Amino acid sequence: MSEPTITQLLREDLRGQSAYGAPQLDVPIALNTNESSYDVPETVVRSIVERVEKAAGGLNRYPDREFTELRAALADYLDRVTGVRLPVEQMWAANGSNEVLSHIVQAFGGPGRVALGFTPSYSMHPIIARGAGTTWVDGLRDRREGVHDLDVDLAVEQVREHRPNVVFVCTPNNPTGTAVSNDVVRAIYDAAPNAVVIVDEAYVEFARPGTPSALELLADHPRLIVSRTMSKAFAFAGARVGYMAASREICDAMRLVRLPYHLSSVTQATALAALDHADEMLAMVDAIKAQRDRIVEAARVAGLTPTPSDANFVLIGGLTDAHATWQALLDRGILVRDVGIAHHLRITAGTPAETDAVIAALTDLAPTHA
Ligand code: PMP
Repeated sequence: MSEPTITQLLREDLRGQSAYGAPQLDVPIALNTNESSYDVPETVVRSIVERVEKAAGGLNRYPDREFTELRAALADYLDRVTGVRLPVEQMWAANGSNEVLSHIVQAFGGPGRVALGFTPSYSMHPIIARGAGTTWVDGLRDRREGVHDLDVDLAVEQVREHRPNVVFVCTPNNPTGTAVSNDVVRAIYDAAPNAVVIVDEAYVEFARPGTPSALELLADHPRLIVSRTMSKAFAFAGARVGYMAASREICDAMRLVRLPYHLSSVTQATALAALDHADEMLAMVDAIKAQRDRIVEAARVAGLTPTPSDANFVLIGGLTDAHATWQALLDRGILVRDVGIAHHLRITAGTPAETDAVIAALTDLAPTHA
């Protein structure tokens, strides 16, 4: 008998699936993964080095499995930026919010269970759900093509129909940049009595004034989970730290699925040092929002259709051939994201000089691609 192929050995539900694959190219202007374009400030670098140096001598031991100091620092941070005070028992963290989401899906999704999100949204939500064997349902944001706001009635209808165990609401949403009100979150929550509802707030610090956080709903919504990250506004993508706030019971359930000691001593030390300097780490948020708004305006002037954004990126529509524009931008040293929506590209807001380059390129390309 011949040996089975690796594909035959692979789980059936993973055969033919594609992996997450944002290109990592060495280009002068990388605006494709919604990172911060600003380096970590020197003062913070020094604090990180000091903390990591102290941790280094103890690397013979496993880290604090409960990462209690880090959870306390994250709770303090949330209190400072949102006014919502949570005990450490309601905080959880992992290696990026991707891992937080993976813990949630492992605990509440899985074979025979259903996860639902509203597409287009963050491409990892279905990948993480399916990775845990969960059936994924691609919900619609609106019946009209090209409308990116979430239609609450349609959302409620789809939730009622599919009776999911896990619901993803991404706000501000990647890749559209659109945010939803807490009323929408409440309506979805009420329509999904058997689900944990994840509000993915990876970009919330960039939201325009008046956009609430779902953290405010936690006290009387025990099935709600608010997921956040240090990768975006906090300018710390390389450190891989994401976190969530939820009920004690939900946080406890994460312990059933996480690998022991999942946050290394080095990661904990690094994150604590950065959280000691939260103001410096967040200092560029307003500047980035200004660049985002410049991109929206310039795209409009170039005859394109940008979606006004509450995040650190802009989804630009109206392109004749999105892939051709993507390539033309790359030829100018600017890497942006083709998110797979026809006639659209997503551009991260970076420094003023990067925006200048984007605007010059879009203006230049407008006659051929708009
Ligand atoms: N959620 C959303 C909506 C995102 O866009 C991203 C990153 N692109 C993440 C979560 C994951 O980020 P990280 O794992 O770096 O925290």
